[in-house]
Amino acid sequence: MSLYVPSHASQFLRSRIANVCVAIAGGTSAEIIEKATVAVKETPFLEIRLDYLEKPLLALSKFKQFFADNTAATAIATCRRSANGGKFAGSLAAELEILTKCAAVGFHMVDLELESAEALKKADLQKLRDTGIGLLISHHDFTGTHDLDGIFTRIEAFHPDFIKVVPTAKSLIDNLTLIQFLERMNDNSNLIGICMGDAGIISRVLGVRAGSAFTFAAATVGEETGPGQIAARTLLETYRIDQVDAATKVYGVAGNPVRSSLSPIMMNTAFRRETVNAVYLGLLTTRLSDLLKLVHDIPIQGFSVTMPLKQEIMAHLERTDPLSARIGACNTVLRAQDGKLYGFNTDVAGITGPLEKRMPLAGARILVLGAGGAARAAVFGLREKDANVFILNRTAETAQKLARQSGSHTIRKEALSKSSFDAIVNATPVGMAGNKAAPLLEARDLNTKLVFDLVYNPLETPLIHLARQLSIPFITGIEMFVHQGARQFEIWTGKPAPEEEMFRVVLHALRQQAELAAAEAAESKPEAKQKPSAKLVAKPAAKPKAEPKPKPAAKSPAKPAAKPKSETKPKPAARNSAAKTKK
Ligand code: NAP
Repeated sequence: MSLYVPSHASQFLRSRIANVCVAIAGGTSAEIIEKATVAVKETPFLEIRLDYLEKPLLALSKFKQFFADNTAATAIATCRRSANGGKFAGSLAAELEILTKCAAVGFHMVDLELESAEALKKADLQKLRDTGIGLLISHHDFTGTHDLDGIFTRIEAFHPDFIKVVPTAKSLIDNLTLIQFLERMNDNSNLIGICMGDAGIISRVLGVRAGSAFTFAAATVGEETGPGQIAARTLLETYRIDQVDAATKVYGVAGNPVRSSLSPIMMNTAFRRETVNAVYLGLLTTRLSDLLKLVHDIPIQGFSVTMPLKQEIMAHLERTDPLSARIGACNTVLRAQDGKLYGFNTDVAGITGPLEKRMPLAGARILVLGAGGAARAAVFGLREKDANVFILNRTAETAQKLARQSGSHTIRKEALSKSSFDAIVNATPVGMAGNKAAPLLEARDLNTKLVFDLVYNPLETPLIHLARQLSIPFITGIEMFVHQGARQFEIWTGKPAPEEEMFRVVLHALRQQAELAAAEAAESKPEAKQKPSAKLVAKPAAKPKAEPKPKPAAKSPAKPAAKPKSETKPKPAARNSAAKTKK
């Protein structure tokens, strides 16, 4: 426990600042001021990264007008030296000279690294304090999460207005260490704690609830000034950080990779839409023991399970639904009030649900490509509905094993052109963005009434493209993704999922990703070098609108351009609880 007594300066600053401080960086003062002028309209608390400028001292005077024009802005000036993880190549004396001039320009606070504070003479540090500017002393550890109390004590010795402790999360447990540290220090209202790194997202969202005075965010996606930083709008609108309180239930997606997962956008949108006080986070880990500890200690009320934990989690569940047990994998865990974990497999419904909307499955001839996790969900789910299932897999033995376990058939590629199916389901990663494998099927193999590609990124996979060319109706992987997520939402909340809104937001995010990728590709071409950065012009991913007009999910176009002619229209979703409640 610390006996920290905030100074008048820190009390004044606290009355001005918000939960989120937006870090602004740029190559020139004009660029920084332009970005700050945009950012301040939504979030008036800024960190100006002077160390990104070539000559910060010369640029300082340019900020005077910005503060005169934006009196609501509260700004921290940071000129972190490269030795401490920043970009400023100058000496400690040069850093001090810059920071000492910040008050006169209009800045409210300066960020001084602990290493610099410790290297300065007392009198020099006093000169900085005499300018009347707020002093934040920070420590960044890029190697891991070590001795937070020790770092706190070293910073506290200088009696700054704010103490900033920033380790790196190398594992999920590092978030827990930081959160417990913040909770332990909860009588210190001027402490800021965040874990850097992709595994540290939990601390960025839950840190403020645990006692961090505020947190840091990037101006937009692509403008991060620290590893794992989240864009301000995402933090405020997707994660609703302003509303995260002690009663907020925590959910997440556990596995690796999860950084680019669309589940947080989809689930947080659903929570927001249905006014559920809950937040859904990326839980980056390959170590199940870390996840189980986090689930117990935070606590986490439920989580989606993705690669590589879907099978491993089974041994730690109190009970599962019968299909998860037969498949040997589970993608949804609910933590009951007694702390015990219960498993479900909503991937199955994500595959059979969309198919069932289009055709009766009993007796249907269905070809499943692949024999991995998604294929197992497809095969067992379809067999449960009495479909006649054929499996084609790169490794024949795995297909044979799955066929034996599920009462299905295997089929060879050469036999496809002479066979016909009611549906073909692709449950391999072939066609996924970044996957360079050649298409599995040619036009002559598509003797089917329907194609269902479980891959959802890109929006139009080569298989869907082929189906479109052949005028074969198709279902895209987004529908599975949203359907399985909607069932998870229902298991966790007991409420019908806002499936149409979930579909809309995922589609929007995928389109934005595609636009960004295209803009970045264009930017990397020499003749396009003059254009503004794609990262700067891109809108933040998946900004949820307050009251979007619901569209029937299955009719939503799966292609960025025009509505695809042959995407199938499902029959009324008799068994779809979300659809039922909308009527
Ligand atoms: P998995 O367990 O790794 O299984 C992959 C399967 O694809 C295996 O049967 C593998 O064959 C086969 N395969 C991999 N590369 C191949 C290639 N180049 N040529 C032919 N076959 C290949 O993966 P999973 O979890 O089942 O996921 C498969 C795909 O489904 C994912 O990539 C994802 O795009 C999609 N998916 C979508 C959703 C959704 O919500 N829409 C959900 C889950 C999965 P071998 O047995 O020979 O290795």
